[in-house]
Amino acid sequence: MNEIVDKNLNLEITNKQLFNICLRTKHLKNSNSLETYKSIGGYEQIKKILKNKLDPQQLIDEIKISGLRGRGGAGFPTGIKWSFMPRDYDGIKYIVCNSDEGEPGTFKDRDIIRHNPHQLIEGMLIGAYIMNAQVGYNYIHGEIWEEYVSFEKAIEEARKAGLLGKNIFGSGFNFELHAFHGYGAYICGEETALIESIEGKKGQPRYKPPFPATYGIYGKPTNVNNTETYASIPWIIENGGQAFMAHGVKNSGGTKIFSVSGHVEKPGNYEIELGMPFEQLLKEAGGVWKGRKLKAVIPGGPSTPVVPADIIRNATIDYDGLAKIGSSVGAGSMIVMDETTCMVSALKRLSYFFYEESCGQCTPCREGTGWVYRIISRIYQGQATLDDLDLLTDVSKKISGRTICALGDAAATPVLSFIKHFRDEFEVFIKNGKKLVN
Ligand code: SF4
Repeated sequence: MNEIVDKNLNLEITNKQLFNICLRTKHLKNSNSLETYKSIGGYEQIKKILKNKLDPQQLIDEIKISGLRGRGGAGFPTGIKWSFMPRDYDGIKYIVCNSDEGEPGTFKDRDIIRHNPHQLIEGMLIGAYIMNAQVGYNYIHGEIWEEYVSFEKAIEEARKAGLLGKNIFGSGFNFELHAFHGYGAYICGEETALIESIEGKKGQPRYKPPFPATYGIYGKPTNVNNTETYASIPWIIENGGQAFMAHGVKNSGGTKIFSVSGHVEKPGNYEIELGMPFEQLLKEAGGVWKGRKLKAVIPGGPSTPVVPADIIRNATIDYDGLAKIGSSVGAGSMIVMDETTCMVSALKRLSYFFYEESCGQCTPCREGTGWVYRIISRIYQGQATLDDLDLLTDVSKKISGRTICALGDAAATPVLSFIKHFRDEFEVFIKNGKKLVN
């Protein structure tokens, strides 16, 4: 890592680049085949682990050193999460890959499945060995079919090659993996709703505790991790935790895929070294489209707070960097908005999404998301009063922190941050019944 100082910004920033770990086969021919993955050393890490019967605790320690954090949004340290699984539990244990990305702007996990499914499978095999699990599922979002079919093919290829099933590499280690096509509801991406869904029930979050590590699928110990998290594991085992950490910054080890969408010239997935300045990532994505000015960015997906252009410009993209400016990495679904964006309209769309996707179990979320959407719609139609802005804030605050799962907080977050930073636009709608921008 080269530390450099940008004198213009008067900021110490880190020289970071695009670096593919999870998407490293993307630009190779037949990127998703077993042959291609083997050509870059695929399945050598699980082979090494099984042949040498490496100590699971040492492997967990290596993952802790890497600084890898859950890439699905929560950002919980992976090594610690894996250590919660009771390895010695006398009975079946499950691991689940959460590929249920359903929030607007999220499209990274499908790229891993499409281009590098075997690295994901190897990551799950290593996870199964470490956590002593016998069965795994990859829960793939119900609205993506092509990736589900392609992952089934990858499983079949691995099974035929003796990489899944019984006695893998003659080690006595058994692991079965299944692709599970989800039901298409956003809430199925919440780990306990996902578990309910795998059990064949309606996908609704459970009260916690107990947590899945002690009471998961059919009441058995279960670990749920995001696709990108699992896909990072083989590289960490091959190169060491320190090497992964070196691609990031303190508290934000390694690389992270950002799905950049919205008003940029080149929307797409960018795997970056954490700590990259925002301006550099924006440049990689071709800059703001049509030569327009940047207005705001939602850095990690709709459930992370929106940040105005003048605040995000000097930020670095990592867990601490985004926390410092009042937002977060989330799932890495970066939505860029140019100067023509109507913030009232944007918030109306986001609020409708959360209202639609509330599972209805808890009153603050079920009723609150509906009220939020109706009040914003009233503002949008020029039929609201200034008191409605306070009411909107009040309803959102009353949802936050009072629900079974994080969807309640996720629904409140955009409302509070949009009003905090763009209150003037909401007031123009209320006073004049019209937009501040075109
Ligand atoms: Fe369901 Fe919303 Fe409650 Fe989550 S917060 S359990 S989505 S009602």
